[in-house]
Amino acid sequence: MRIVLVGLPGAGKGTQAAFLAKNLSVPHISTGDLFRMNIGQGTQLGRQAQEYMRAGQLVPDEITIGMARSRMEQPDAVHGFLLDGFPRNVFQAEALDQLLKDDGHSLDVVLNLVLPHEEAVTRIAGRRVCRHDSSHVFHVTYNAPHEPGLCDACGGDLYQRQDDTEETVRERLEVFDRVTSPITEHYRLRNLLVGISALGSVADVTERSMVALRERGVRADRVSTPACDR
Ligand code: AMP
Repeated sequence: MRIVLVGLPGAGKGTQAAFLAKNLSVPHISTGDLFRMNIGQGTQLGRQAQEYMRAGQLVPDEITIGMARSRMEQPDAVHGFLLDGFPRNVFQAEALDQLLKDDGHSLDVVLNLVLPHEEAVTRIAGRRVCRHDSSHVFHVTYNAPHEPGLCDACGGDLYQRQDDTEETVRERLEVFDRVTSPITEHYRLRNLLVGISALGSVADVTERSMVALRERGVRADRVSTPACDR
């Protein structure tokens, strides 16, 4: 099955995607994580992406689409994937439609995690991510780790992403409104879009997502929520 997760930065796409992908036995493909991995490894792609990310801007389409396509062509994604952070504009959405069509596939559903802007700013400015596993996400106030600075799940160091400062977050929200939000209309017209409130606990949002997937005929069984995602 082929699923896209859309939503404001801070809506919990990464957390939900990791959980749902495990549950559905498909890879979680996050373009943000792929860029951060490339930056960490010092690749040319990472160097190209870094400045855009630091400024809260989108990385150019030709770089992003090429990277996403290579990842989707890996053997583990033959039977499907869950995309998180891609597509992020209508051009990328059209490119994805074409890529899938060329392979005789199509998307099954697009989950739109809906969150008020001010809640997104509060969530992101306090967000701390595990260096070891980026799906282990905490919040300094709302979901504090037992040991400050250390991941409850694996003991990895927690850090604040460079693009999670309040100023950059506001820029990212503006980019989302202007450039990314039109993709919801793209998918609504294709009858693929399902809106879900991203308010409440991680478990609440997961439950809503699973109900929506089941209603769309996607098999989604209940499994326990990861310890770090209370
Ligand atoms: P994320 O981890 O999804 O919040 O992405 C972090 C940053 O990576 C974004 O603010 C962009 O700079 C870049 N990025 C991730 N996905 C895309 C995409 N599909 N298109 C362009 N830039 C992206």
